[in-house]
Amino acid sequence: MDLELKGKKAFVTGGSVGIGLAVAHALAAEGVEVAICARDGERVEREARAIEKAHRVRTLGLRADVSRREDIERAVARLDEAFGGLDILVNNAGTGTSETILDAPDEKWTQIWDLHVMAAVRTARGCVPLMKRRGGGVIVNNASICAKQPLGYEPIYNTTKAALVMFTKCLANELIPLNIRVNALNPGLILTPDWRKTAGILTQGTAQTPDQYLEKIAKDNTPIGRFATPEELAHFFVFLCSKRASYCVGSTYYVDGGWLKTVE
Ligand code: NDP
Repeated sequence: MDLELKGKKAFVTGGSVGIGLAVAHALAAEGVEVAICARDGERVEREARAIEKAHRVRTLGLRADVSRREDIERAVARLDEAFGGLDILVNNAGTGTSETILDAPDEKWTQIWDLHVMAAVRTARGCVPLMKRRGGGVIVNNASICAKQPLGYEPIYNTTKAALVMFTKCLANELIPLNIRVNALNPGLILTPDWRKTAGILTQGTAQTPDQYLEKIAKDNTPIGRFATPEELAHFFVFLCSKRASYCVGSTYYVDGGWLKTVE
């Protein structure tokens, strides 16, 4: 299948590790020029160079905290300067939480709201003018299965990801007349380095190995009985970013090994 992505220009937030890095590599493998951003400037630079070397496309590593308006504005201005426009925006940066509603302070709600929702609002404001200049574009928001099926320990994560899914629908309706398609993905269990680190910490001093811990989580939760690799998920992102998904507008797609317990 020719995805017709060669020569396109993309911006992936949180692109220095995990899912975002896999998406950036997968787009670059199709000939897309990729800008990635993250807070750790050294790592994001290093990974941008690695993508460039692996796929021989122009890349850009940007240090930016997407929960901050000024950082987004600066990053978008720099990528416009370097790329002269944009075709694809992937809002991926995000993080899990752990709290109870009664104990979590307002500041935590605001911080995660800024990261999961306002970042997508602000990147849209910044990037849509660049897409308009190129005749259209694609936005994919990385939400989570928790937007629909909450996990008990992370109410702030569940709530803000659900808001991101609704925002996706509203933005899609607003932007489709500009030939910009907006969709969201709700991944399930994706085995990133962060999951491995967590497993290492939680199994320290126990009889269980990190791999056994991860295997149990996967078996207990997903009908498929395993985690996905970031690369497996990245394929779906790339498809949604391509012309082959031209009739996909305002939808949210699950890539969760069957974990969602209801029908959509
Ligand atoms: P990782 O923690 O592995 O990577 C997160 C990436 O985002 C890093 O590049 C990190 O770099 C960057 N990042 C984090 N906070 C910010 C910020 N404030 N500004 C800019 N960049 C930031 O996460 P995953 O790959 O696991 O997750 C990516 C997305 O997928 C998240 O939105 C997550 O909610 C979602 N998701 C993940 C699932 C999973 O099982 N892994 C399942 C469902 C959804 P740095 O720290 O340097 O900023």
